[in-house]
Amino acid sequence: MELRSQLNESLFKPNDLETAFRYKSDDELSRTRMVYSLIRYPWLVKVFSKLIIVAMKLKLPVKGLIRQTLFRVFIAGENLEQALIEVSRLQRYQVHVVLDYVAEGEQSDIAFERNQKTILNNIRRIAEQKGHHFISLKLSGLADINFMTSVNDKLDALNKEEQIKWEKLLKRVDDICALASRNGIGVYIDAETYATQNVYDRVAEEMMETYNSSKVNVYNTLQMYLCDRQEYLQSLFSKAEKRGFIPGIKLVRGAYVEYERAQAKAKGKNSPVWSNKEETDASFDKAVAMCLDPLKPRYTCLATHNESSILKAIELSHLINEPERYLKFSQLYGMSDNLSFNLAFAGMDVSKYLPYGEIEKAVPYMLRRAEENTSIGAQTNRELEMIDKEYTRRQSLRHRNK
Ligand SMILES: Cc1cc2nc3c(=O)[nH]c(=O)nc-3n(C[C@H](O)[C@H](O)[C@H](O)COP(=O)(O)OP(=O)(O)OC[C@H]3O[C@@H](n4cnc5c(N)ncnc54)[C@H](O)[C@@H]3O)c2cc1C
Repeated sequence: MELRSQLNESLFKPNDLETAFRYKSDDELSRTRMVYSLIRYPWLVKVFSKLIIVAMKLKLPVKGLIRQTLFRVFIAGENLEQALIEVSRLQRYQVHVVLDYVAEGEQSDIAFERNQKTILNNIRRIAEQKGHHFISLKLSGLADINFMTSVNDKLDALNKEEQIKWEKLLKRVDDICALASRNGIGVYIDAETYATQNVYDRVAEEMMETYNSSKVNVYNTLQMYLCDRQEYLQSLFSKAEKRGFIPGIKLVRGAYVEYERAQAKAKGKNSPVWSNKEETDASFDKAVAMCLDPLKPRYTCLATHNESSILKAIELSHLINEPERYLKFSQLYGMSDNLSFNLAFAGMDVSKYLPYGEIEKAVPYMLRRAEENTSIGAQTNRELEMIDKEYTRRQSLRHRNK
């Protein structure tokens, strides 16, 4: 495969579907087509989600159905070995990964320690693979969410008991970041809910101070649907300057719009999220411009499926020196292959966020993907249209060759 070395938007062809899907066999393409044709119906996703949750609770035999549908499209495997096969498959096309073990919703010290061990093992194993890989870190998998919520607004005034829990959390994260930096694996600290945002920011900043002094190993995630994030971004730049670390910034729009609005309403507060999509888009693009400042570019990952934001970022990157050092892209496994594989083909640093785990544990993640794809109907239709086109192209090629 011919590879390009310079960032160049004229080489990035998001409509090149042959490049986009060539890693998928005909069977895989056909399965993806079937799943996308189903999830474009919001009512079907709602009914399916409810049925799956009830069926899993009642231990009904639905695993096979899930495995053959949503799981195969959005999850890289039931265990690490299966996920690693996918890692080397993607790496053949210069697509790196952000490895994620999908453990959600467990709330005990035993579970947190088990999760930490899994992540440490993942770092060791992914470090043996070719490529520039990352792991993603959800703090809710390492500490009690109720504790993080309760201290979110008083981080400088913790009592003794809280201080002990805080240090335990920091130590768990620090062990992970230390091993990752020793092994050349990057760490993206994911963003979750607004109620724990200060905790996440504080932990990420402490890790960046320790591990980003000469090289960027740790990235904080900024959800640009939050009205306060531009101000935070500016304050992060100042803190980094003062404390002598290099900020690593992963920009997302944010995955919990409805949840945040409902939470704010229930508490009688204003929603922390911009009031419409256009404002979120503007906030995201503004943050990209702040990060890709030609006078002082920052290490930035654009974690997005939004083609227009990607094109704008590539355009801005022409104004900075060594753009390939500063700019990365990332998309979720099973989504927007036309962006990931064509960005990689154009020589850009791109990764797939690659979740793996047992089917039961992956259910919340899969249902979020199904709901997300339903709620952005137009994009789902576009995804399906692209899959259809490639499917038809392959079929006609087969006919011609008969
Ligand atoms: C690699 C990767 C990592 C990610 N990591 C995280 C993470 O750590 N934390 C996290 O929260 N999310 C994360 N996400 C998900 C992300 O936040 C978005 O939900 C998802 O990518 C869709 O946004 P988009 O930029 O791709 O594109 P688009 O489809 O253009 O935008 C959809 C997004 O716009 C915003 N939006 C839509 N409607 C409205 C409205 N009415 N008002 C205000 N805003 C609106 C929402 O944020 C919605 O998700 C990640 C995504 C990727 C690709």
